[in-house]
Amino acid sequence: MSLQALSLGLYVHVPFCANLCAYCNFYKERPIKSLVQSYLFGISREWEQWKNILLQQNVSTIFLGGGSPSILSCRDLETLCAHMKPFLPHVTEWTVEVSPTTINLEKLKVLKKSGVTRISMGVQSFQEDVLRYLGRRQTRVQIYRAYDWIRTAGFNNVNVDLIFHPNFADFKLWEMDLREADHLSPEHISTYCLSFERQEGPFRRGHYVDEDREAAFYLHTWDWLKNHGYRHYEVSNFARSGHVCLHNLNTWRMQEWIGLGPGAASQWHWRRFQNANNVHDWLSKRKINCVDLSEEILCADCLIFGLRMREGVCLDTLQKRFPLADMAKYLPLWQQFALEGFVNVHKSQLTCTDKGLLLVDALAREILGYAADNGKF
Ligand code: SF4
Repeated sequence: MSLQALSLGLYVHVPFCANLCAYCNFYKERPIKSLVQSYLFGISREWEQWKNILLQQNVSTIFLGGGSPSILSCRDLETLCAHMKPFLPHVTEWTVEVSPTTINLEKLKVLKKSGVTRISMGVQSFQEDVLRYLGRRQTRVQIYRAYDWIRTAGFNNVNVDLIFHPNFADFKLWEMDLREADHLSPEHISTYCLSFERQEGPFRRGHYVDEDREAAFYLHTWDWLKNHGYRHYEVSNFARSGHVCLHNLNTWRMQEWIGLGPGAASQWHWRRFQNANNVHDWLSKRKINCVDLSEEILCADCLIFGLRMREGVCLDTLQKRFPLADMAKYLPLWQQFALEGFVNVHKSQLTCTDKGLLLVDALAREILGYAADNGKF
């Protein structure tokens, strides 16, 4: 496929958080002043390195994530956002993640003035005991106040992130969170099932897993949000009409993206690579996890991420995009998935059923195994 036809996303990782949550696997640091200044210097340098490419290829979406970008001061936010200005003529969506404890109206005004179009707030839960359990510092009052500020600053495209943990609460408690989120009426809601990334302490992986209960939570959640006007378009993501997250769609469709900042990943011109996972190594320009991408690899990833979306994947379109990929080898797998009720195949469109969507990670493992066993990978 012609590279010109691919859209390009820009991700900037802001690795600072006031509070380091036990379940979180993102790279983050406490915001020590000297480290923040080193970070801003590194971003400027990395931006210079990529600027011409980003301008030539017309960045279409920007995402400032973390960490908590909102922990930066107004002045530092201004500095960071100023780098995005040259790209804005072609940018259709610019999201910034904020946390209720570190955002304020002044910072939101800076973001609005800089051209940010979408705010994503990490609410997680409205219930204080759940928040404490998660190790989050915010209170319900802070969440509501931050949400008011977001609207006051003029943002009309807002996401809230919620977390559920099937073994911690029953569905009624989780539904209270869904109800409160719906009451705020954001344009987008992301719901995540809590998974603990550490191997020690009360957050030991596997300690709490109850797969049937987890599946029931997912199904209830999908139904509940659908009945309240949110279209379920990806396993964990729901949007009101016209408000799907374009930046994430770009990634799930395996287009191209450039990541700036420590730990940020890029996929560009048949290569995938990641910046080193801490500020000091990143400043010394160390890259990790570099992979050359073949058509087979990208095709398998398109299948895996495409199946996470309700729209699924068009096999004909994929074959046209990757003419060298052997897509015929997957036919027995689609037949097996269809027989087991995991997918529907209509003409050349492959979509997951609810049952398939619940097991989409297992399907992904099967696709990868199949791709590796049945061809050059
Ligand atoms: S605030 Fe967000 S990014 Fe920071 S540690 Fe907690 S979950 Fe991770």
